[in-house]
Amino acid sequence: MSIKRILVTGGAGFVGSHLCDRLCAQGHDVICLDNFFTSQKSNVEHLLPRRNFELIRHDVTHPLWLEVDEIYNLACPAAPGHYQYNPIKTMKTSVMGAINVLGMAKRCNAKVLQASTSEVYGDPDIHPQPETYRGNVNPIGPRACYDEGKRCAETLFFDYHRSNRVNIRVVRIFNTYGPRMHPFDGRVVSNFIRQALAGEDITIFGDGSQTRSFCYVDDLVEGIMRMMNGPDDFVGPVNLGNEGEFTIKQLAEEAIRLCGSKSKLVYRDLPADDPKQRQPDITLARKHLEWEPTIPLSEGLAKTIEWFQSINLADFRAPTPNY
Ligand code: NAD
Ligand code: UDP
Repeated sequence: MSIKRILVTGGAGFVGSHLCDRLCAQGHDVICLDNFFTSQKSNVEHLLPRRNFELIRHDVTHPLWLEVDEIYNLACPAAPGHYQYNPIKTMKTSVMGAINVLGMAKRCNAKVLQASTSEVYGDPDIHPQPETYRGNVNPIGPRACYDEGKRCAETLFFDYHRSNRVNIRVVRIFNTYGPRMHPFDGRVVSNFIRQALAGEDITIFGDGSQTRSFCYVDDLVEGIMRMMNGPDDFVGPVNLGNEGEFTIKQLAEEAIRLCGSKSKLVYRDLPADDPKQRQPDITLARKHLEWEPTIPLSEGLAKTIEWFQSINLADFRAPTPNY
């Protein structure tokens, strides 16, 4: 395998830091770029002494000038409480960030992968969601800054591909969890584990019958890397996620069981436009990437709980008040 110079934007984040780990271990020269809005250096601290790892504080909404062979574009707040905190900035990050990395890819003749999302399907009326489904997004709702920003980024990727022959890849990531999720990101897995470990009430939004399909981060990173290294005639979009579908109430019960907690379930208002169901159709990923998740929810949750038990919550600054 040839050694490449690889840029990971959002590389200090939850998914990005695991991706940097894998790429560094393979011997590539990895440039991790992040503005640390929803992360902190501690996620990649262990990589700093390595000779094949560099860390740059930069905001992807501003142009950047680097020479690289591959770009993984992950920079974007991903948790609802983070991306709704400054929705205009979220939209800028997706759109201007995409333009900046695509411009760099065009100039350097680099391959560039976009971390898109199942949110492009909005509140889906087709179940499970195949890549051909065009989605049901409310363009003026509170989630739109993220959903529409990611949809626009996909448009830019495909237009640069068609107009400028940029070598692109687009992955649509479904709910992913694991160690290094920000403990105060307000996402359901981090909230439930934090609450269960502290013996606090578990906050279920709505009646808990809405569903999500949860993918363990190692499985996801494997899928992302297979997509980057896959054939040039399969650019995506491709769904990456675990097909195991759970109600939010089931997730809460599993978190309580695995934490050995006595926490009680409490019910809160359902946020606006909260998708009722979500499950990936991963036929394409199976066919083109020979990829499918291997880690079941109970096993992934146990590893995540172990990590939450190992951290000191006081070391983490809540990026926004929305958790
Ligand atoms: P995260 O918030 O942990 O990571 C995002 C990283 O991007 C953070 O380190 C943050 O500081 C950085 N960032 C944000 N805005 C930036 C900017 N303007 N300039 C530079 N850096 C910036 O979230 P994550 O879960 O690791 O998500 C990574 C990517 O995967 C995101 O693009 C997200 O949309 C996508 N994704 C994640 C999930 C999931 O369930 N984790 C699902 C779908 C899509
Ligand atoms: N959720 C919940 N309690 C929480 C946090 C989230 O019931 O403390 C619900 C939320 O309303 C949604 C689901 O869990 O239905 C997943 O939420 P998350 O923010 O993790 O991701 P997304 O909605 O973007 O899939």
